[in-house]
Amino acid sequence: GCQFPHLDGGERPCRKRDDYLEWPEYFMAVAFLSAQRSKDPNSQVGACIVNTENKIVGIGYNGMPNGCSDDLLPWRRAADSRLDTKYPYVCHAELNAIMNKNSTDVKGCSIYVALFPCNECAKLIIQAGIKDVIFMSDKYHDSEEATAARRLFDLAGIEYRKFTPRCSQIVIDFDSISRRAGQKPQ
Ligand SMILES: [Zn+2]
Repeated sequence: GCQFPHLDGGERPCRKRDDYLEWPEYFMAVAFLSAQRSKDPNSQVGACIVNTENKIVGIGYNGMPNGCSDDLLPWRRAADSRLDTKYPYVCHAELNAIMNKNSTDVKGCSIYVALFPCNECAKLIIQAGIKDVIFMSDKYHDSEEATAARRLFDLAGIEYRKFTPRCSQIVIDFDSISRRAGQKPQ
């Protein structure tokens, strides 16, 4: 047992940590970690779908459809023909997160997204039964796509809100983890 509320043998804390990662930060971090998988040179977006029990049921990032080589499809944003841009081909993070779901459905779930959804993803979110959208960036707020998405969300009764992180950064530093692992157990 502990002689002092948070010290065990003088050094090792035995009271539970109070600086643990909160759920919203955790889910948004998962969305951003997933975005690191994207091969899009201009835009890396991730999404994380969470059910009402705080369980992750789907993760996705923007990429070309399964089986379609991302070496053979264009990644550019502008070209004489739209067919030579990424837009007709790329699957957005929200689409992939919904399609990757490991539960029967995502009804009543929340989706954490790095970027406010476009109108096409708004349709998918609504049809999938997702009820909450938590986004980090809203950099295309004034675009037609975002405007249409808000219109659809409002009509469908989908809540959307900008994420306000309670910590300024989350760092996973493999080097320092390795250094600590090399130390003798405390
Ligand atoms: Zn989209």
